[in-house]
Amino acid sequence: MTSQFSTHVPYVPVPLDPLPNDAESLGSDFQRYLSYHLGRFQGCPPVYLYQALAYTLRDRLTVDWRATWGDYLQPGKRRAYYMSLEFLIGRSLSNNLLNMGVGDATQQALLNYCADLEEVVSEEPDAGLGNGGLGRLAACFMDSCASLRLPVIGYGIRYEYGMFRQRIEQGYQVEDPDHWLRDGHPWEVERAEYTQRVQFGGYTEHYIDANGTRRVRWNSKDDVLAIPFDMPISGYQNNTVNTLRLWKATATDEFNLDEFNAGSYSEAVEAKNHAEHISMVLYPNDSSENGKELRLRQQYFLASASIKDAVRLWERQGNSDYSLFAADNVFQMNDTHPTVAVAELMRILVDKKGMGWDEAWAITTKCMAYTNHTLLPEALERWPLHLFEKLLPRILEIIYEINARFLREVSMKWPGDTERQRRMSIIEEGNVKQVRMAWLAIVGSFSINGVAALHSQLLVDGLFHDFYELWPDKFNNKTNGVTPRRWVAHANPGMTALISSKIGNGWIADLSELQRLKSLTTKSNDDFFADWQAVKFANKQRLAKLVLQECGVEFDPSALFDVQVKRIHEYKRQLLNLLHVIHLYRRIKLGRVENWANRCVLIGGKAAPGYVIAKRIIKLINSVADMVNNDPEVDGKLKVAFLPNYRVSSMEIIAPAANLSEQISTAGKEASGTGNMKFMMNGALTIGTYDGANIEILEAAGEENFFLFGLRADEVDALRHDYRPWTYVEQDEDLRGVIDWLRSGHFNPCEPGIFDMVLDGLLSPHDPWMTLADFRSYVDAQERVSQAWQDQTHWTRMSILNTASSGFFSTDRTMLEYNRDIWKLVPGGAVE
Ligand SMILES: *Cc1c(COP(=O)(O)O)cnc(C)c1O
Repeated sequence: MTSQFSTHVPYVPVPLDPLPNDAESLGSDFQRYLSYHLGRFQGCPPVYLYQALAYTLRDRLTVDWRATWGDYLQPGKRRAYYMSLEFLIGRSLSNNLLNMGVGDATQQALLNYCADLEEVVSEEPDAGLGNGGLGRLAACFMDSCASLRLPVIGYGIRYEYGMFRQRIEQGYQVEDPDHWLRDGHPWEVERAEYTQRVQFGGYTEHYIDANGTRRVRWNSKDDVLAIPFDMPISGYQNNTVNTLRLWKATATDEFNLDEFNAGSYSEAVEAKNHAEHISMVLYPNDSSENGKELRLRQQYFLASASIKDAVRLWERQGNSDYSLFAADNVFQMNDTHPTVAVAELMRILVDKKGMGWDEAWAITTKCMAYTNHTLLPEALERWPLHLFEKLLPRILEIIYEINARFLREVSMKWPGDTERQRRMSIIEEGNVKQVRMAWLAIVGSFSINGVAALHSQLLVDGLFHDFYELWPDKFNNKTNGVTPRRWVAHANPGMTALISSKIGNGWIADLSELQRLKSLTTKSNDDFFADWQAVKFANKQRLAKLVLQECGVEFDPSALFDVQVKRIHEYKRQLLNLLHVIHLYRRIKLGRVENWANRCVLIGGKAAPGYVIAKRIIKLINSVADMVNNDPEVDGKLKVAFLPNYRVSSMEIIAPAANLSEQISTAGKEASGTGNMKFMMNGALTIGTYDGANIEILEAAGEENFFLFGLRADEVDALRHDYRPWTYVEQDEDLRGVIDWLRSGHFNPCEPGIFDMVLDGLLSPHDPWMTLADFRSYVDAQERVSQAWQDQTHWTRMSILNTASSGFFSTDRTMLEYNRDIWKLVPGGAVE
């Protein structure tokens, strides 16, 4: 394509001097941005104070950003590309202040303008470009890669509308659009000069070229431009700034012009809208949206633009011999969402670079790596062939060819085993033939990993077993993590200062150093224990203020804060939590309050807008909360609140304030969990099933510092054939009381029947989540929690031991493992 940008720029690059970081220069730049750039003066809306400060800081990342790029683009430098449809970033200002080490100077600078840093920071809208764990993981990975100076570039989509905002109206979830870009986004830099063109639609043409070689041309007809917007990702006090490159879709110019000149203005605008829809909105479902044309367009848009950009960067380094491409590039695919990239790289190598199939395949399968995030069948992506045919005709041909050659390999290994061939085929037969994206990812990748030890084991035992038998060496585990910068150093400054006063601050960059806290948990450390409790208490006051503001419910900071925040999903079993709450409420009503521990139960999370039962569970939580909180007999023994619009910035207040972390999924269903890790780092104790990373948390903290309950994954599977929920109700007086209340409409006298669907699910022998099977074990574990809480010294020791044992769950460790086993990059950003 002809570019609007000349390649001969009359400009000589000059060396950039770093900008000074003292309070005075920060203050004067802040003032300059506010007045001269933004045109705002005294008394302006506070969001402009945030913007002026963000520009001030972004300027100070520029020199390191440029130097980091310079380093990563050196000849022979190998790079990894993290491709993800989601990056749940949250706020950037506070995180950059921490990583740049300019928090104090900035605070000082703002004081001169009578602005409070914390208030300015809270003006930043969350960048909510993700649903939950998977998207937040990608964001934590970006932070750790920069902090470890790993040459990793993130690729994603710059959604105009991020995750919807949740409101609660009469107990029901209401979704509002999240137009997070409305006031502008100071962190991003548009790089229109690196625009890529992404093909859609049309037909393919097979021909013989001048050398007599069979070639294919894709004559597409709905091309879209992908414009990159770069966000700086600062490393932790290491002068390294990595890049998150987010693509925005726009219409091609010539297409608009053609229509426009033909006098069809409105058609031209429609085509423009059609193109721009691709990056308009994040799909708000944390299991996948199968069959939606727009979603497939998003996936190919990301994959194609990113692969082309990586190819461009590599050629810019002076490379042209594609037999060396795999030595310099590796693509990590976050779930199956971007896996059409396997076929796209093949297309570029074969159609564009003129390579033979075998050579191209050898390169592709050395470049691609795939991370699986779930075993839930509804989350396995399958795309109808007819959609592929219409949108991506050339890509479908390539997938057919990949599959034909792959099935030949399968039939050589297992001659005559047609049943196995059918199971392993990338194309699923049936009424509507479909492309199995996970199979494409496995066949095209040299590395396939799960995200916690149990999950990776279940993958090779079950879902991926056929492939494991064929290629055992491809499969590995990489247990997830979270970044301790955002989730401890930023979110919990009180605890950070306390820990650093004891063991120095090296733990922020090497979380395994937290182990050194263990020697401080002996009896002779009364002061340390008191300080630890005081920090937690202050964090609970901060959360109580938020809960009062958002829910109108008063939480007493001296009560046990019992917290479950995560997407609302049946497998995560918010219902089990709620059954326990109702059980506690019944105990109060029956006067059974012996050895009582006062509790504040906080639940938060969004339900996918189309997930009817999940939304009804939210309503039930709110109905129970209403009754409990307004019953004078309860008298502070129990409080229940549903916190609306759970997101990254609210978790930054929640995690540091929790005493008890609820991780109660049906065993075998939660791939890893990462909320569990944020809570552990911040000194909460976990009540949890033997599932996902809970198992590794339990092993690290010690069984005696963890409240384990419930069936194991194998027991869940065994019970499934003969699950009789009614027998638990009949045999357990407490459960019977709770179920009777629900059946009698105790919480919904004015809206009879609204919870029937919830109750029917619990009582169905086909309930996949087997909630009632774990009720007794859960209630008993909760009773152990209450007893442990009464001994505050004992509880505090367990809390410290959880934090001290959390080092393994840093994404620094996760990224070092990805790098050691998969990426094999040489660290090195800008020089310190
Ligand atoms: C950490 C996090 C999650 C993931 O929580 P899980 O409990 O692992 O499901 C989801 N959403 C937000 C905003 C988070 O910060």
